[in-house]
Formats: sequence, structure tokens, C-alpha cells
Amino acid sequence: MTPELAFQRCIDPGCSATVPVDSTQFTCPRCGGLMDVAYDWPRLPVPKSLRDFEAKWSLRSDPLCVSGVWRFIELLPFAAASQVLTIGEGQTILQRADAVVRFVGLNDGRLYLQYEGLNPSGSFKDNGMTAAFTLARKLGRKRVACASTGNTSASLALYASMTVCDDGRPMQSVVFIGSGKIAYGKLSQALDYGALTLQIDGDFDACLRRVREVSEPLSIYLMNSINPFRLEGQKSIMYRVLEGLGWQVPDWIVVPGGNLGNCSAFGKAFLELRELGLVNKVPRLAVINAAGANTLYELYTKQGLRWNAGRYNRDCVQAYLKHLDDTNYKPCTVASAIEISRPVSLPKALRALEAMNNGVVRQVTDEMILEHRAMVAKTGFGCEPASAASVAGLHLLLQEQVVSPGETVVCILTGHELKDPDATVKYHTGLDMKAATIPPARPVHGKYANRPIRVPDDVRAICKALGVDIDKTPLAGLPCR
Ligand SMILES: *Cc1c(COP(=O)(O)O)cnc(C)c1O
Ligand SMILES: [Zn+2]
Repeated sequence: MTPELAFQRCIDPGCSATVPVDSTQFTCPRCGGLMDVAYDWPRLPVPKSLRDFEAKWSLRSDPLCVSGVWRFIELLPFAAASQVLTIGEGQTILQRADAVVRFVGLNDGRLYLQYEGLNPSGSFKDNGMTAAFTLARKLGRKRVACASTGNTSASLALYASMTVCDDGRPMQSVVFIGSGKIAYGKLSQALDYGALTLQIDGDFDACLRRVREVSEPLSIYLMNSINPFRLEGQKSIMYRVLEGLGWQVPDWIVVPGGNLGNCSAFGKAFLELRELGLVNKVPRLAVINAAGANTLYELYTKQGLRWNAGRYNRDCVQAYLKHLDDTNYKPCTVASAIEISRPVSLPKALRALEAMNNGVVRQVTDEMILEHRAMVAKTGFGCEPASAASVAGLHLLLQEQVVSPGETVVCILTGHELKDPDATVKYHTGLDMKAATIPPARPVHGKYANRPIRVPDDVRAICKALGVDIDKTPLAGLPCR
């Protein structure tokens, strides 16, 4: 591929400065804004119809066709097929969730869950990591780094452990974790996969500032979602949603918002699909914040901040961030993956909200998140707390009649339940349960709480716990114990 077919471009339409695709600065050299990966589409071989991708379904021996990201390589053509680094990410499926519709108030058959917990590292982050690692290896980098609330570091560490550099050694990963919450499932992955793990005395936002400061001077490739290649890979989540719906466009996409990379990627996916004439309509976007980390909600919904074709009110953003500083605000939510108050992709998220039919932003409380997580899990889709913000947000939007029961809705379940088993056990037992013993009975408030029962080591007691009259069973004659 000749390099000028793909390049990086400033997202501000009033600037539009471009740099080569391989640039590692990730901010605009002219205005300091965010960059997109951009393409000279007319000179690229783009399929005429999304159905053309179906031809790849039969090619199971080609890893690029198995990957749910690279199956769509024509829609992210920044690397040649031979340069792609894939471990089979994105083999996730859109699932019709009829058992959940009753709880939220949609009509039967209208709700779908895009279950991204099925990725190799257990979260949607792998969709973007495969793309960014493809670039890192192309650039010959030997070290990669990110700041993370957990899942980015798990994904980064996994890909690094499986990436062989030119000198035959594995790529080294460095992760910066803060003093905020990190779920043990995620931390255990980073440690297992061999990441150099630095715990910084500060929150996620502080970690991100540091990793951005030190990476380039030390020739470390920065893997946070300010790296636009992450977002290129994450566009594929939308392609798979369309694939799962027989290439029909749903009415709504509902996604949790943390650093806002994912919703930004969705917006870019649809902007491009529309530009390429591959879709005739675009779904409406709903981004759901946790109430304890609600910067986008405050700015977009409360203060009315809009992308406004790139002329968004920068003073309004600056004033809000300054207010966070002045009040020493620290985000706080049980949904640790979205416990972020200075979302890096904020401008791209504003663009996505505009592109996707004047989208909406809502906030949900920790209690709503935990109840919806438990409800979704009870119907078979185990996800971590942050993921359930999408379903809780949908419930709220139905109550507000912003979403109507007859519309088709896709909620993104961003990460797997086993990422954060502590949150689950605490919900069901009311206690932090790190020890293997079951805590004594205690009132638990969760609507779907399923408390384990302590039973003496005794057949009679076990029968009683099972609700069985032992004297009516063959066990009746047995001696006790
Ligand atoms: C990263 C993450 C999010 C937030 O995604 P952003 O792109 O940062 O908005 C939500 N849920 C889970 C499970 C995540 O890992
Ligand atoms: Zn610029």
C-alpha cells in the first residue's frame, strides 16, 4: 500500500492538518487537537455493499477472516494484510435478549446485547489493541504503555505477551495504574501476562497525564485511546452489530462512556459508512455515564455543549475542567472501568453524538448499575458493572419516553463478569468476601440477590436447606451424618 492512502488528520474541520500515518505524536501539530486516522477512500478498494463481507465467513483458515476486526480490513485500511497482528479478537456475537426486554419495557425481540466480554482478554478493548499493536510492530517499537482503570492494561499486556519483536523477544508492556479502583480480575491479567506494572499515587487522570508525558521521549509507544488506531479497531463493533442484524441499522446504540473512545469510534464508523454509501440511515447514540464520573453528562446534557461542526465551546470545557481541579473532584463509582472525569476523547464523542442523530447522554447511579448488572446476569449475560450502565441507561430512556418500546436497541456489554467478581459477590452477600467461607446471614438489599446459605455438615440439615422432607426420601433410614 502506498502510504498516502492512509494518513492522520486533525478532527477540527477548521484545521484539518494532516501528518503521515506513522506519526506518534497523536495531537495536531497546528492546533493541539485530537487526530483521526483518515483515508483517501476513492483510491481504495471498498466493497460496494456490506453484504460483500459475507464472502469471508467461509474462510475459516485465514486468521484475518476469523478476526471480527480484520474481517473488515477494507474499512480500516491503514496496514497491509501481511502486517496485521491478530489473536482472534472480535469473535463476539449480537444476542437477542428477550428475557431482558420485560424488565426494561421494550417490545419482544427489540433488544440485542453485543457481548464484548467474549474477547480474548474479556473486554472490547481487544478490538482496538489489535489495531494499535499492528502499528507498534510496524514502527519497530519494543515497548508499549498505557494508563488504565484495568481493562486496557489487561488487553495491552496480553497482546504484548503474544507479540514478537524483530529481535525475537516479546514486546514489553508497561501499565500505569492509579490509586482509584481496579478490579482484581483485570490486575491479575496484567501481572500474569508480564506487564511492568507501576502504581502511581494519583487517580486515572493523573496516570494518563504521566504516561503521555514520558512515553515518546523514551520511545515507548502510547496505547491509550488518544492513539487513534485504537478507535479504528473499535469501529468494527458497529460492523458486527450490523452483521448480526442482517445489515439492518438499529434505531439505537447504547454504550457506557468512560474515556469516550468507544462511542467516538462508533460515531466515526457511521460517518464513514454513510460517506461510502454503505448504509442508508444511522442509529441514534446514547452514551451512559456513571453519576460519580459524569463529565460528559454535565457538559452535554446539563450545559448544552454541542460539537457544532467542530466549533464547540472550548471555554465551556476548560471552565468545567478547572472547576474539577478547584474543587479537587475525584470521580467515584462502583463501575471502575468508567471512573474517569477528564475524558480524553470528549471532542470526538461530541462529534459522534452529532453524527448519530443528535444522540443523548444520561447518568445512572451505582445502585441502578448494580441492579441492572444482576438482572442481565440472571438472564445469562454476565458482564462487569460498567457494562451494565448501558442497560440501566436504556431503562431510564424508556421511562423518559425518549426511547419507545417498538424501537430496535443494541446495548453494548463492554466487559466480562469475571473481571470483577468482588462486585458480584458483594451484591449477593452484602459483604466483601475475599475469604472462602460464607459470611453469616445478613440482610441484603439487592433485588436479585442470591445469598449462599450456611449449612451444618449434616444430611438432615442439607435436606432442609433443599426444601425436602428427609423422612419421605431414601435417605430417611440413614444414620445421621
Ligand atoms: C474501557 C471500558 C469502558 C469505557 O470505554 P471508553 O471507551 O473509555 O468510554 C466501559 N466498559 C468497560 C468494561 C471498559 O473496559
Ligand atoms: Zn488541528
